[in-house]
Amino acid sequence: MRVIQGISVYEDICIGRLFYYGRRNQENQYAPAKDCQRELQRYEQAIMIAWEQLQDVQRQSLKTVGEANAAIFEMQKLLLRDPEFTESAERMISQEKVSAECAVQTTGRYMAKQLEETGDPYIMERAQDVRDITARLLNILEGGGKETNFPDGPFILAAEDLLPSETVQFTKDKVIGFALCGGGVRSHTAILAKSMGIPALFKLGDELREEFDAVLAAIDGFEGVLYLDPDEETLNSMRRKKEEADRRRLLLNDLKGKRNVTGSGRSVKVFANVGTMADVWAARENDAGGIGLLRSELLYLGRREAPSEEDLFVFYRQVLERMEGKEVVIRTFDIGADKQVPYVGTAREENPALGLRAIRLGLRYPELLKTQLRALYRAGRYGCLRIMYPMITSPEEVCQLKTLEEQARQELSHRGETFLEQVPTGIMIETPAAALLAGELAKEVDFFSVGTNDLTQFTLALDRGSGYLEQFADPGHRAVLRLTEMAAKQAHEAGIWIGVCGDLAADTRFTERFLEMGIDEFSVAPGEILRLRQKIRGL
Ligand code: PEP
Ligand code: MG
Repeated sequence: MRVIQGISVYEDICIGRLFYYGRRNQENQYAPAKDCQRELQRYEQAIMIAWEQLQDVQRQSLKTVGEANAAIFEMQKLLLRDPEFTESAERMISQEKVSAECAVQTTGRYMAKQLEETGDPYIMERAQDVRDITARLLNILEGGGKETNFPDGPFILAAEDLLPSETVQFTKDKVIGFALCGGGVRSHTAILAKSMGIPALFKLGDELREEFDAVLAAIDGFEGVLYLDPDEETLNSMRRKKEEADRRRLLLNDLKGKRNVTGSGRSVKVFANVGTMADVWAARENDAGGIGLLRSELLYLGRREAPSEEDLFVFYRQVLERMEGKEVVIRTFDIGADKQVPYVGTAREENPALGLRAIRLGLRYPELLKTQLRALYRAGRYGCLRIMYPMITSPEEVCQLKTLEEQARQELSHRGETFLEQVPTGIMIETPAAALLAGELAKEVDFFSVGTNDLTQFTLALDRGSGYLEQFADPGHRAVLRLTEMAAKQAHEAGIWIGVCGDLAADTRFTERFLEMGIDEFSVAPGEILRLRQKIRGL
């Protein structure tokens, strides 16, 4: 048995076999071609089979993880027909006289390396897609038939690291835990893992290696420990701990339907953070009072073009209808930083987290934001919608956004659409500037929601995606709490409500402090709702 210490982002236990993501690319496939014509045919056939497989996976994932996540496979289908890939593989077979396997592997490796070396976060993400299709093609050429890259049964996904766009493609029935060598515990990958409600360990280091693929493992998400090939005693102890955790969860379930009132009679809202339709179901499952943050950018990722107004409208309408009249705060896209897309032409930035992201992109490319606003106004008729803007730093930005809102409404009127004209609008307090100017900002909007993840990143000058800063990270740093308190005071003086939707909202060590500040709403991952509710009721 091996014991590897990591950092846990979700408290639960799981036991299962490891699947090491990305191992296929390591094998050396060199072999000369006996018959070049035959190898070219095998290559072409493998492309066709891979395309069919991806078509199936895409169809399947549309049902399970929604359109935003399924779009990743559309991208991979396009890559299969990429002229550069095809030309290189075919040339290697016919001129260098190597086997189809060797041509695919060499071309895949070369292309992935080239993409990685650009240093551009979006292009670097595509390297992962090239690796995926290379592994798929090799699998087919080796006679793996219609097998996909992932095993069927439940498994613990082990990898060096995962991108947000990769993480969203997994469902809970397939992946029961994540074990990553690296990764940032405040990254979007961590947030997505948490919202899936499965144990996830980050920063396990080099000790977690590909050779452990298929080995039985257990994750103790309470202690942040990965057991490889656990002995009987450890397995039994993990099983007992799991039973206990499930029992506690059942007890928490008793809280469903109960009010969120403190001992002193103060009532607060406990809402859910969501990104996909599956999260919306989980929010309902966990009796969320509403949705306090819908990270709308997830629908923009992994696609070649921005989603259309119709795509967005259909999704927002569905979310609002599923929430049956409960409040739904939809944040306009926070594209940029670690969530890059190819269809807004930004050059590579040195510091994308401080770069052209969120509303800055919207103000630079107004059509992109107005399309989203039009979809939101149209969907607003189907539930209780609120719109929220991310990364605000000044009242002037809010005024510019109001102009775009007005234009979007006028465009809908000209088209003769029916839509909701008055949608309460708020902003995220996630830059120190917004907290400092909260008094002025509160006059312009209907609510605030504190994004403690970015607020911490910017206040402490601490890259939330970095895997090297754990020793300096101080959740609930006094400076962040003080900025939150300032914003709360200003919000209440102006008569508007204030929530907290960053990770700190779920950290029950700070619940009392937030209540003392007068925080009116907490928005947390669906799986954290009942635990937080229990804490509030106990205060
Ligand atoms: C935050 O920054 O705290 C937040 C809630 O937004 P995100 O995590 O999506 O950046
Ligand atoms: Mg943020």
